[in-house]
Amino acid sequence: MRLETDIQRIKQRAEQQEERNWAFRCFLKGCDLSAKEIDSVVHALNEEVSSQIDCTKCGNCCKVVQPILKLRDIKRLARYLNLPEDAFRAEYLQKDDEQQGDIFKIRPCPFLQENRCTVYSSRPDDCRSYPHLHKRDFVFRVNQAVSNCSVCPIVFNVYERLKRDLWHKGPRLEFPEYE
Ligand code: SF4
Repeated sequence: MRLETDIQRIKQRAEQQEERNWAFRCFLKGCDLSAKEIDSVVHALNEEVSSQIDCTKCGNCCKVVQPILKLRDIKRLARYLNLPEDAFRAEYLQKDDEQQGDIFKIRPCPFLQENRCTVYSSRPDDCRSYPHLHKRDFVFRVNQAVSNCSVCPIVFNVYERLKRDLWHKGPRLEFPEYE
């Protein structure tokens, strides 16, 4: 399967695939594979795909995703920028809608410059972990992956491969066509 890296085409294809992507989510939830077995496939695909994609040429997550900053992220960033925590909050942060934490006031990320993260060594945990495909229990986070298909080339390509590798083994859905 060809690796897609063009973000405009990815957005377009993710939109076209949206219905199938949600259907595949239902398949994953009901299939005979354990969470651990699904993780091992996702982790292998993540390694394969992410080794071929250069995040510094993309930076799309820094442009469209709003990471949730926990207290330790705020302290770390304020320290890195040599700002008192209150001043850092006032300048850069606002509460997120669901009050789970703080988010940056603006998008793209205020620390993104020429597609580079200028606070890389002190970036928030959410940014370190994105796109979260190395984590355990993928099957309980498929919603997040489907949403990220239109944002992140790694997620888009992993999800396409996951459908290719797992769907045809499922009893309930036909194997979709791939180029
Ligand atoms: S994690 Fe995904 S969206 Fe973010 S820079 Fe890397 S490829 Fe792009």
